[in-house]
Amino acid sequence: MNSKKKYFGNKVEIAGRTVKIKYINLNDQDYDGACSVDDELIVLHDELKGQKLTYVYLHECFHFLFSRLSLDQSEASPFEEIIVDGFAKFISENFDVKKK
Ligand SMILES: [Zn+2]
Repeated sequence: MNSKKKYFGNKVEIAGRTVKIKYINLNDQDYDGACSVDDELIVLHDELKGQKLTYVYLHECFHFLFSRLSLDQSEASPFEEIIVDGFAKFISENFDVKKK
């Protein structure tokens, strides 16, 4: 197994919830990651690595965070994708992110 696959571990704490992280092959999908708030689960494509892995990981974590903060139900909702993506890009392009 590629050690990069588990770079961010199998769970992450987001605003009082323990969110599971699963690394599965998404070659047949048109996305590299997904976030299910109800299932408290983030799925990442198992072939991602480096900056792209960080970017997708943060992107999905921010979606979960938005939901926990109820921002996905506010007037900001149409802008969630833009905000989530902007933060994920900014951090992944400028910082080395690693789990504690
Ligand atoms: Zn998104």
